[in-house]
Parts: sequence; structure tokens; C-alpha cells
Amino acid sequence: MAIIDLNKCNLCGACVSVCKFKAILLENPQEVTGDKTDLKGYKGVWVFAEQKKGKVQPVAYELLGQARELAASLGTDVSAVLLGEHLEEEIQELIWRGADKVYVVEKRELANFQDEPYTNILVGLIKKYKPEILLCGATSIGRSLISRVAVKLRVGLTADCTGLDIDPQRKILLQTRPAFGGNIMATIISPNYRPQMATVRHKVFAETVSDMKRKGKIIRENFDAPLLASRSKLLDIIEEIESTVNLAEADIIVSGGRGMNGPENFKTLEGLAKVLGAAVGASRAAVDSGWMPYSHQVGQTGRTVSPKIYIACGISGQIQHLVGMQSSKIIVAINKDPDAPIFKVATYGIVGDIFEIIPALTKKFKEVLKK
Ligand code: FAD
Repeated sequence: MAIIDLNKCNLCGACVSVCKFKAILLENPQEVTGDKTDLKGYKGVWVFAEQKKGKVQPVAYELLGQARELAASLGTDVSAVLLGEHLEEEIQELIWRGADKVYVVEKRELANFQDEPYTNILVGLIKKYKPEILLCGATSIGRSLISRVAVKLRVGLTADCTGLDIDPQRKILLQTRPAFGGNIMATIISPNYRPQMATVRHKVFAETVSDMKRKGKIIRENFDAPLLASRSKLLDIIEEIESTVNLAEADIIVSGGRGMNGPENFKTLEGLAKVLGAAVGASRAAVDSGWMPYSHQVGQTGRTVSPKIYIACGISGQIQHLVGMQSSKIIVAINKDPDAPIFKVATYGIVGDIFEIIPALTKKFKEVLKK
């Protein structure tokens, strides 16, 4: 007889298939977590439009583009949710960028993000209007907010997705993200509960362009004062001062890896970056070696970037690095190993020694760009 410690068992079901005596049976594994939602009542794809100082953040426009594709596959519409104060121009922009409807709650208490009121209001809107999908940026605000919303609604949440699609048969959201340290890409589904919720990192998808001919509906909502209350008090907002070009927004990034062989050689890389007006990135190997600060790390546990040009110098191209930069428009890889995996994603590959190639490129770019 199989003896199961019910205090430790999390009903994952892994023991069922490995038990050679077939002594374990897991009945209705999906029923154990509670009541299923009435799925048919949920329609539409929503994007939480994060704003800071009254300006919608670019990640919302990236998500609107993806939401339009998902909505087209489902035959439904796209809505944005905007919470804050004095948002008139931003509402219009959301429509021009792809929203068919914008749900707006304008209150002084919502001017800046606060966990409790934002959660209460988003939960209230979801309960009233029942979207089938909710997307949000995997930003500091998004991560804090959307996990609370998921817990309050008792629904699933897939964080940090790098791909979203619709299953053509079941019409459910396919949420793809790196798993097991980035060694596999896992596609996660939330078939039984609504909304299906996912966060996506900034720069994974391209922003939609503004189309001033688009028309949309604005739905203004009001909430009672208790829902706007917060137990925490916002004292001040202190901007992070970036000493270099902001990696996430840079058009050109020159990145160095373990092949740079030491912190002093990053100075050579900075020389190339300066000539190109580029930001300097680094692989985790270079950061872990203490050659560059963590704020420069590109990849799964660093920044996700999508510049026009990404130049990878002495970086092998492990999956954890690739997930952070593979949506760059042009990838130039410089590596002495012709079989390095980075060449599989590179637009242009240079096989050779970075210590010869970087100075040569710097010299040539200097000459050409002077003209
Ligand atoms: P290596 O893999 O050692 O590659 C060095 C490359 O330099 C080699 O291809 C070599 O041929 C080349 N080279 C050496 N000398 C020269 C030369 N003189 N000229 C030209 N080429 C040369 N990594 C990240 O980058 N970002 C992340 O966010 C990240 N997150 C991770 C999260 C988890 C959970 C795990 C497990 C790993 C993560 N990693 C991440 C680490 C990742 O798996 C790799 O170890 C790392 O990316 C390797 O860095 P690298 O390419 O610089 O070093």
C-alpha cells in the first residue's frame, strides 16, 4: 500500500506515473482547488495600461499590439484599463494604439501607483466586466499589482511570458516562458479559471504605431472611498539615476561576456560604445566575475532589451542570455569559436579574436561616422 504524507503532498500527480505497482490514483486533479468559473460569461482581451506621472508606459503599447493579435484569433475586442488622474490625452492615445475600449478611473488617490487601491479597483472592474484575458507589463508595478489581483480573484497567473498565442482548438491562452533555469520553454495554460492572466517583460513585443483614425469607447467608472484607501503612505518617488545610457531604451548595445577576460577590457568595449552612441551590456558571466555592475546584465535574470543593433562580444549565446536580447533587430556576434550558439541567432557573425576586432571596428566606425 502506498503511504502518502498529506501534509507534504501538493497533489502534483508526479507519483502516479512512476509507481510501478500502480498503487496511486489521483482523482479529478483539476477539481481540488475550488469551483470552476463560468467560462462562457468572460469575453475580451484587457491590457492594464501602467502610467507614471500621468504618462502611459511603453510596455502598455507593446501589449496592445499583442492583445490585438490574440483578440483577432478569438474574434473579440481589446480594452485598456487606465487608473490615475488627469489622463485625457493618454486615453485617446490608447485608442489610437489599438484599444477598442478604455476603462478609466480618475481619482486623486490613484495619481501614483499604490498596491491596495489599484488592486481593489482592478478586481472590481474585472468582476463587473469579466474579461477572458488580462495582460500586464512585468514591471515592478505590474509584478506587485497583478499577483495581488490573481490572489483576490483566485485565478492563475503566468509571470514573465516571452510568447503569447491562442490555442486554435480550445481557444485558450498559451503562455510561454523560460522554465527550469531557462533550459526549456514551457507553455502554460489556465483552462479552468478566468481571466487568464499573464505578465510580459518590457521590450519582448514591438509597440503598436499610433493610428489617429481609430475610434474607441471610453467607459468611466467610479469607486467608493473605502476601496481607494491604502494602509501604506506614499512619501516620495525617487528616480533611479542612470550613469550610462538606459539599456532598455538604447538603440545600439555593445555587450561583453566572459571572453572579455577582465574588467580592464570593458574599457575597450566602452570605447566602441562611445563611438556608436551605444549602451554597454554584459552577460551574467561578466557580471558574476565583478567586471560590470548588475544593472548592465542582459538576459533572463537581467534586462530584456530590443535595440536596433546588438553587438555581442565574447558571449557564447546560452539560452538565458538569448531570451534577453534575441528580439534585437540586427545581432552582430564576435566570437573565436565558429560553433558558438550565438551565431545561430546572429544576423552577422565575425569569427575571430575580439581583442583584434573591437579596436579595428572602433577605428573604422570613427572614420566612417566622422564623414
Ligand atoms: P561563456 O559561455 O563562457 O562564453 C564565453 C565566450 O567567449 C565563448 O563562446 C568563447 O568562445 C568566447 N571567447 C573567449 N575568448 C574570446 C576572444 N578572445 N575572442 C572572441 N571570443 C572569445 N546569462 C546571462 O548572460 N544573462 C542572464 O540573465 C542569465 N541568467 C541566468 C539564469 C539562470 C537561472 C542560469 C542557470 C543561468 C543564467 N545565465 C545568464 C548564465 C548563462 O547560462 C551562461 O552561463 C552565461 O550567459 C555565459 O556567459 P558568456 O557567454 O559571457 O560566457
